[in-house]
Amino acid sequence: MVHLGVDFDPSPYVHGVCTYYYGTYDIEGGVALAKSGQYHEGKDGFVVHIPSLHSPQMAPEGQHAITIYTICPDRLATGDWESQKETYADKLIAYAEKYIPGLAEHTQLRVILTPEDFRHRTHLDHHAFGGIAPVMGKSGAPHQTPIEGLWFVGAQSESGGGLPNVIPAAYRTAKAIAGQ
Ligand SMILES: Cc1cc2nc3c(=O)[nH]c(=O)nc-3n(C[C@H](O)[C@H](O)[C@H](O)COP(=O)(O)OP(=O)(O)OC[C@H]3O[C@@H](n4cnc5c(N)ncnc54)[C@H](O)[C@@H]3O)c2cc1C
Repeated sequence: MVHLGVDFDPSPYVHGVCTYYYGTYDIEGGVALAKSGQYHEGKDGFVVHIPSLHSPQMAPEGQHAITIYTICPDRLATGDWESQKETYADKLIAYAEKYIPGLAEHTQLRVILTPEDFRHRTHLDHHAFGGIAPVMGKSGAPHQTPIEGLWFVGAQSESGGGLPNVIPAAYRTAKAIAGQ
């Protein structure tokens, strides 16, 4: 994930605040690659999110905040994220630049977040930002735990990750706690 502060208006080149760019429709192949620690470097696709288009106060006047992010292995087969993050950020920006001309040239500020950073921030051994990949027949930790009074919600729980899973499950759990 790369956060950019840019001094131009990228809106003519995107479809709104959040634009998905697909580089492949081979989902199984992409998953297999990521699981083996191979990073596609942006070739398979990425997302461009521009929060300053809906909240202009998120960037100085005439400027924009852009986040570019993509799927990648939690751990690389060779090397580590920290030592290679600048190179990978350059490559991801180069792929985005094919759609948003002038992106690199107009960048005033950039902050890179790697899976290592996410792991540290979330205190996890294996970070998966959309939730752990589902495995047929296996469920996450139950909302009602064996410990009386301890309930468990969120991406690691039986609901699985992603907002459409996490939010209604948390609501249902809250209602169960309240005895409704
Ligand atoms: C970049 C990115 C893009 C995503 N895009 C999508 C998408 O398009 N669609 C989708 O459905 N899902 C998306 N997700 C996944 C989705 O955001 C997560 O699956 C979901 O937010 C997980 O919910 P959660 O409640 O488990 O954890 P979180 O939403 O992370 O909530 C945990 C909360 O606990 C707080 N917290 C942590 N430690 C403590 C502590 N000690 N004391 C008090 N509070 C604490 C944190 O600050 C945080 O607010 C995305 C995730 C990321 C990172």
